[in-house]
Amino acid sequence: MSTTTPEKFEFQAEIKQLLDIVIHSLYTEKEIFIRELVSNASDALEKLRHTQLTEKNVHNDQLPLEINVTSDEKAKQITIQDHGIGMTRAELIRNLGTIAHSGSKAFLKSLGEAGAKNSNLIGQFGVGFYSAFMAAKSVRVHSHSWQPGEAGHVWTSDGSGSYAIEESAGEQRGAKIVLDLKDECAEFAEEWRLKEILERYSAFVAFPINLNGKRLNTVQALWLRNKAEIKDEEYTEFYKFQAHASDAPRLRLHFSADAPLSINALVFVPQENTEKLGFARLEPSVALYCRKVLIEAKPKDLLPEWMRFLKGVVDSEDLPLHISRETMQDKALVEKLNRVITKRFLKFLEEEARNRPEDFEAFSREFGQFLKEGAALDFTHKEQLMKLLRFESSLTAAGKTTSLADYVTRMGGEQKEIYYLTGPSRAAIESGPYLEGFKARNLEVLFCYEAVDDYVMNNAREFDSRKLIAADHADVKLSDLPRSEGALGEAAVQELTSWLKTTLGERVAEVKASDRLVDSPVLAVNADRFTSPHLRRVMKAMNRPGADAPLRVNLELNPRHAVIRRLHEMHSANPDRAKLVAEQLLDNALIGAGLLDDPSAMVARLNKLLEAV
Ligand code: ADP
Ligand code: MG
Repeated sequence: MSTTTPEKFEFQAEIKQLLDIVIHSLYTEKEIFIRELVSNASDALEKLRHTQLTEKNVHNDQLPLEINVTSDEKAKQITIQDHGIGMTRAELIRNLGTIAHSGSKAFLKSLGEAGAKNSNLIGQFGVGFYSAFMAAKSVRVHSHSWQPGEAGHVWTSDGSGSYAIEESAGEQRGAKIVLDLKDECAEFAEEWRLKEILERYSAFVAFPINLNGKRLNTVQALWLRNKAEIKDEEYTEFYKFQAHASDAPRLRLHFSADAPLSINALVFVPQENTEKLGFARLEPSVALYCRKVLIEAKPKDLLPEWMRFLKGVVDSEDLPLHISRETMQDKALVEKLNRVITKRFLKFLEEEARNRPEDFEAFSREFGQFLKEGAALDFTHKEQLMKLLRFESSLTAAGKTTSLADYVTRMGGEQKEIYYLTGPSRAAIESGPYLEGFKARNLEVLFCYEAVDDYVMNNAREFDSRKLIAADHADVKLSDLPRSEGALGEAAVQELTSWLKTTLGERVAEVKASDRLVDSPVLAVNADRFTSPHLRRVMKAMNRPGADAPLRVNLELNPRHAVIRRLHEMHSANPDRAKLVAEQLLDNALIGAGLLDDPSAMVARLNKLLEAV
């Protein structure tokens, strides 16, 4: 197919939206477009290096694997050229006209979810190629694919909805991006400015970068250098480059090992957990290298799933030099790497928790969900992960947390089990009826606010040979409190509970006097001991089968409470009124448990009760 006139194409709708935001954004750090384009050039060169291993026929096979940046201050123009893999006509359409870049995808999704055109988000995600339009009024991409039979092309766009492609003779292998800068961005064509920006990133690019004909970088891999000689700023710049980030990392771990495998690793924890903010599930982003050569940027099995919040690089000399993405399937080797790195990272977190408890607490507020996910699903590392979990409790101040180990040290001699309560917030748990009996007995209760908590506690079952017990489960046994004056005696309790059981019928499985109530007249616990109220709510929200089954609870009543004592008198004197009160008490208990689905019957009943006032 040979065209001489440019053919015009519309951008995909999402790209139009993205471009609109990028062009009109007030994001101040426009210079990130240089980083994005250099990183694309470097990716293209990496891909070519892989291609050359298997393909005999490569177009312009003698061209050096380099990146050439040139600037023309007068013409307000920058050119970034690489001799990488290049793009065919079809690839130009697919790669530059439709959304492929995971960062841009996540960015668009976050705009949908986080609302407003928050220009800072651009820096957080890195919008890839399209960031060029932050600084350029028009962009030209000259390209020739590595495939010898293909023609060369020029792709042009001003970013306003469409682009054009034209066949072009004499293009060299790779891509040459020509940017005509907007007037207010002319500074980027000044050599000193361009040099300053490129120098910040170029140290981490594995290919030579030349600026206006002069070599800028000596190719070096930060992760292979001696820790003692690396400055904090160098780490931060590397992190920004590697993770497309705009801020410094929260934590970093740089280590090397010789046995059982030779490994150099440099991994970072970002400031923010974007999954927690409701953005897309994170992709694994610790890249795998072998002696400075990139094997795979997002290897799936290099680390356990729960470690997907880490960014960085793992380099191992033990990988066969010509390992391909297919041989990544070499399970045994990847598993070995996985084990060594996970173990080392867990040890690092233990040290952080010990040496910098405040920072660790902040880390776990942000990233704790991943540790919990690991504790529930990663059987090999469960023990260690459990030690790293942090929870608020009835004894911590709001916002402060405790470890399970510290909880255990506070347990009295009598206490055999670790108690926890799940609920949406501290206030909700503290005002519910379940806590008071524990408080009255000085028993500490852990507070769990996250959906995954129930799952973790149920799966883990115990810590340090102490059972983990939900304080709102039916089979919690508490020691006796001294009997207070006027409490119903055993015979009266017997009489009242059997009357309640008959009166409330199918809605209750069991009715009994309770040890755990102090200030409330009743509480409800799930008859099914494996389902906490919290879990039932989660199942309902997820539309799980069975979540709608009629609810039967065990009702526990407080023989010391005035309402219960009155009810005992009333149930023989005025059975009709007593029935209304009993039903209302049950509903009150369900509300306390977050289990009342439909309040309409309750309102009708309340009105009836009020008539009698
Ligand atoms: P990402 O680099 O994350 O894939 P980008 O938006 O930066 O996303 O680039 C989109 C795609 O365009 C790349 O995946 C690649 O296929 C193609 N591309 C961009 N720049 C180049 C280049 N210099 N050489 C070859 N292909 C390129
Ligand atoms: Mg890119």
